[in-house]
Amino acid sequence: MSNLKLYNSLSKEKESFQPINEGAVGMYVCGPTVYSDVHLGNIRTFMSFDVIYRYLKYLGYKVRYVRNITDVGHLVGDLDEGEDKIAKRAKLENIEPMEVVQKYTNGFHDMMRTFNISNPSIEPTATGHIMEQIQMVQDIIDNGYGYVENGSVYFDTMKFHKDHNTYGNLSGRILEDLLSETRDLKNQSEKRNPADFAIWMKADDRHLMKWSSQWSVGFPGWHLECSAMSTKYLGKHFDIHGGGNDLKFPHHENEVAQNMGACGCAPAKYWLHANMLLMNGRKMSKSDGNTISAYDLFSGQSEHVSKGYSPMAVRFFMLMAHYRSTLDLSDKALEAAEKGYKKLMDAHRYLQQLKHDPTVTVSDVDEKIKGLVGQVFEELDDDFNTPKALARLFELVPIVNSYRDNKPGFRDVTQETLDALKKCFQDVLINIMGLNDELSTEGDGHGEALDGVMKLVIDLRQTARANKDWATADKIRDDLAAHNLVIKDGKEGTTWNHN
Ligand code: AMP
Ligand code: ZN
Repeated sequence: MSNLKLYNSLSKEKESFQPINEGAVGMYVCGPTVYSDVHLGNIRTFMSFDVIYRYLKYLGYKVRYVRNITDVGHLVGDLDEGEDKIAKRAKLENIEPMEVVQKYTNGFHDMMRTFNISNPSIEPTATGHIMEQIQMVQDIIDNGYGYVENGSVYFDTMKFHKDHNTYGNLSGRILEDLLSETRDLKNQSEKRNPADFAIWMKADDRHLMKWSSQWSVGFPGWHLECSAMSTKYLGKHFDIHGGGNDLKFPHHENEVAQNMGACGCAPAKYWLHANMLLMNGRKMSKSDGNTISAYDLFSGQSEHVSKGYSPMAVRFFMLMAHYRSTLDLSDKALEAAEKGYKKLMDAHRYLQQLKHDPTVTVSDVDEKIKGLVGQVFEELDDDFNTPKALARLFELVPIVNSYRDNKPGFRDVTQETLDALKKCFQDVLINIMGLNDELSTEGDGHGEALDGVMKLVIDLRQTARANKDWATADKIRDDLAAHNLVIKDGKEGTTWNHN
């Protein structure tokens, strides 16, 4: 059905994409743990999968996209140690764990909307699927891959590896090395082997989020929710599983083991991993303070940036890198991306309102344009290569602008080529890359439309002032202020801003 190739982290090769059921795609992506505001690193990963989702739909697949919300079970230490991240935050803020979950889920959704990241088809929560998780633990025990110890249940990695010889295939970890890692973790003494992991944990009296089960009052292990929810909504074997590449181990490796342990087959045919967003060369992460919030980036109120950037300029900046490459956030790179974004969108807007010259029936530039349009999609077919697809679009910009500048070239294209080019810009920029100008009105980066209107209003006010019509000039300023739009008269003329 398509020429799509994607890089499968499992085989470590680019493979041609053949969905399990023709015409349909099941895709599961690990969602956020809702214990704090999402950071730009998380946003990059969800944006990468948004473009993948949009492109699959563009290719004509019927996609069921499941992206979960982790609202229980993710412990501070990522392994089976430490407090639950959400319970810890609840204590800190002196609110209910479910208030923490609601607050940060709302914030996450706001951010997804701001960056024009599509809603998934299903967004299941871990707490909403406790029954399914308990059932999966039971299946793992019944199949001989889980054992109960003091009310907790552990996955028996040794037995699993002996039977299947696959533990570590996804992440490249070697079980023997894991076994020799002597870590002093809580509950470690209950495990038969240090590489075993909890699939159900007995809760102590002080623990806030817990449920009854046949083994104890407790809570599911973090990895279990994704196994249970992907199986429930996509089946035992589905097409694509994604997430950030920091989740390969232990999270995804353990998901594979659980699915095989419970259902007897590996969950996903293709594993896709998005690379990390860096700042100053280091992974952007909250825990070591190397982070900038999206709001600070919009307002420019951060030592890391010289000014604010609109969400769509940031989106463009992120798509200028391939999803499997790291991306280093810097003011210079953002500024360059902002310029590129404007250039491309200006050409797009200009192109869409062009009319064909009916006297042209054959043209020299047709072949060149058609060739570049074809290449845009070849790049996207090549493991969703957004930077190379954008590079091809940039090659088309001077051709489009030659019309505006009254130079020979694009003026003489056929109706068919003009239509194909318009469609290419619209499909790639708006539908696939999700660059929606109308949304660029946050913070200091303003949408083109609002910018135009503000210029006009400022001009009218200047005319009123020149005519000494102070009442009109003041009314304009005061009415704008009522809408949080502030205009300032300075030496370089009048500027405006969001309050
Ligand atoms: P979390 O909320 O920590 O479970 O993470 C949500 C998603 O964001 C996961 O897929 C992570 O792999 C991803 N992620 C976390 N940090 C970064 C980063 N610096 N760059 C890109 N993705 C990240
Ligand atoms: Zn997951």
